[in-house]
Amino acid sequence: MIRVSTVADLRGSLAEASAGRTPLGFVPTMGALHRGHLSLVEHARQRADLVVMSIFVNPRQFGPNEDFARYPRPIEQDEQMAADSGVDVLFTPRASEIFPVTQGVAISSGNAARRWEGEARPGHFDGMLTVVAKLFNLVRPDFAVFGQKDLQQAALVAAMVRDLNMPLGIVIAPTVRESDGLAMSSRNRLLAPADREKARVLSRALSAATSSFRDGERDPRAIESAGRAVLAGEPAVLPDYFAVVDRTTLEPAMRDSAGDWAVVTAARVGATRLIDNMLLGDSDAD
Ligand code: AMP
Repeated sequence: MIRVSTVADLRGSLAEASAGRTPLGFVPTMGALHRGHLSLVEHARQRADLVVMSIFVNPRQFGPNEDFARYPRPIEQDEQMAADSGVDVLFTPRASEIFPVTQGVAISSGNAARRWEGEARPGHFDGMLTVVAKLFNLVRPDFAVFGQKDLQQAALVAAMVRDLNMPLGIVIAPTVRESDGLAMSSRNRLLAPADREKARVLSRALSAATSSFRDGERDPRAIESAGRAVLAGEPAVLPDYFAVVDRTTLEPAMRDSAGDWAVVTAARVGATRLIDNMLLGDSDAD
C-alpha cells in the first residue's frame, strides 16, 4: 500500500498505480477504522482493480459545539488496518491541503438535507458534500462506496452525483453491527462502559419498528410508536428523532405511499451522539 498526504503525491501515485488497472474504487472515511469501514473496502475490492481510501476528519462537517477535537485519530493503527484489508492507495491529507485559501465556492446540499441530521447539525451536509466532491475530483474514481449506516449522507451523495452529473457510480453497503446489534461507529469508542451497554437500545428500538412493519403495519406513525416504546425503556438514552422516512427524499413517510422506507434515529448517550437506521421493505435483510 502507498500512503500519500499531498494532492501532488496523490495525483502522482494514482497515475502510476492505475496504469492498466481499472476500474478504480474509492472509500472515503474519517478514520478510526472498524469492521464497518473494512466491509466497504471489501465491496470496493470485489468490483475494482485499484482501491483508494481517504482518511480525513473534515472540520467543515463539525459544528462549533461538536466533537471535532475529541474525534479519535489512531492513524498508525488505521494505516495497518487499511494495508491489511487490501487498500492500494491511502490518502491522509492535512486540513490545509484540502482547504488552502480559497474563494469559498462550495456545494449546497439541497432538499434531502433539510431534516434529521441536517436540522440537528446546521452546515454539516454542505461541509460533507463539499469535501466529498473535492475528493471525487482528486481521486476520479469509477465508483465510491458509502455505508448505509449514514443513510441520509449516502442519499445526499447519490443526489449530488445525479444532480451535478458527476461521472461515477455510488455503491451503498449494508450496516455492520456488533454482536449485540449496536451499529459499528468510530464514536462507539467514546462511550463509557455503562453508556455502551445502554446504547444497545437503539438497535432494539429499530428492530421493534422493523418487526412492526413485517407484521403488516403500514401506518408510519404506528411503526414509530412501536420503536419509541422500546427507546422509552432506557431513559438515559435521549432520542433526538425516531422517524419512518422515504429512503431517497428523507421526507417523513406517508401512510399508503408507495416506495422504499427506512426508520432513522439519533440519540444522545452520555456525551456522545449516535445515529442508526434500518430499512423497511419486504425484501430487506434488516
Ligand atoms: P466515517 O469514517 O464515520 O465518516 O464513515 C466512513 C464511511 O464508512 C461512511 O460511508 C460510513 O457510512 C461507513 N460506515 C461507518 N460505519 C459503518 C458501519 N457500521 N457499517 C457500514 N458502513 C459504515
